[in-house]
Amino acid sequence: MVHLGRPPVSPGGPVNPAIVLSSTFHQGGDPVYGRDGNPTWDALETAVGGLEGGDAVAFASGLAAIASVIETLPVVGRVVVAGDAYSGTRRFLADVAGRGRLRFRTTEVADTEATLAACAGMVQAPNRPSRREGFADGGLLWLESPTNPLLAVADLPALIDGAHSLGLDVAVDNTFATPLLQQPLDLGADVVVHSATKLLSGHSDVVLGMAVTRRPDVLAALRLRRSLHGAAAGPFEAWLTLRGLRTLAVRLDRAQASAGDLARRLVGHPGVTSVRYPGLPSDPGHDRASVQMRGFGAMVAFEVAGGPGAAEAVSTGVRVATAATSLGGVETLIERRGRWVMEEDLPPALLRLSVGIEDVEDLWEDLDRAISEATGG
Ligand SMILES: *Cc1c(COP(=O)(O)O)cnc(C)c1O
Repeated sequence: MVHLGRPPVSPGGPVNPAIVLSSTFHQGGDPVYGRDGNPTWDALETAVGGLEGGDAVAFASGLAAIASVIETLPVVGRVVVAGDAYSGTRRFLADVAGRGRLRFRTTEVADTEATLAACAGMVQAPNRPSRREGFADGGLLWLESPTNPLLAVADLPALIDGAHSLGLDVAVDNTFATPLLQQPLDLGADVVVHSATKLLSGHSDVVLGMAVTRRPDVLAALRLRRSLHGAAAGPFEAWLTLRGLRTLAVRLDRAQASAGDLARRLVGHPGVTSVRYPGLPSDPGHDRASVQMRGFGAMVAFEVAGGPGAAEAVSTGVRVATAATSLGGVETLIERRGRWVMEEDLPPALLRLSVGIEDVEDLWEDLDRAISEATGG
């Protein structure tokens, strides 16, 4: 993480890669054109590929990476997706399905049996694919673990093996865990995607995505999608992501230690009715996460008494944390997720907390006061 993607050692040469701001390159070599390649992407792709254990492709955003993976499916594509996967992923699937180009089913990813049953049902449904490129005709199991925002933990090894034996390929959105906590390619996943907008870049100043794979056919299909869709990452954004990545280990250590601490204290708060954090021994995902992950991450979800109004009041009542969407930055962010399209099924008083690197006592004082004021608890 600290050393990958640096230029070769040469006396007087720079320690960091350059930001190459050029739309075109002298003919006769590679890259040729700025939508197809850029040396600053190469540096970032080397680093993220090294961390996940595959070949990485940088995209203009996390959703561009997700869309590119899904667009490699033959038409009519088949997808089984975590029912509480990132709402943008489900919106994209619904949009493409609405135009008849794929069919998808949602599933509770924490329920291994139900998820594999959904995969089996998908495979048995009749299908006449029109083209073949990248992923197989069997379809795709789209996993996210822990999920955004309910923090459900999927049994990744069992689901990946089970889906493969049914003929499906498997994609894992690893945004919440990062390669420091789990490496799905090592468990057999065909492709991993990231919203590098979040923890990888880490400072809420970049929108960028990554996809990583060990399969040469999938790698080629993803690079082609990036060029054809014009989903090219900005060189400056690629550089900022690489710069942020250098400190991921210390940021994540601090943030997840504080997340664990805050989750435990939230459980005891009279204004809080439930807390989801895989690090809590009482959490339904705890045992699985303990085996599968090297840490429990920096995201906490909790519900407050008093309904959506009280939850909104907590998010606007905090002063150290910031009321805003997104996650994974050095600053703590909080929001009521139910305010979003495609998130209407969530508990209305659910707040998602992305824990940053501030002093944990400052964070707790802030949350404790804002919750008490909003719930009268
Ligand atoms: C934010 C997010 C995305 C989308 O990434 P963008 O960079 O915003 O396009 C995808 N998956 C998860 C889990 C996310 O949190």
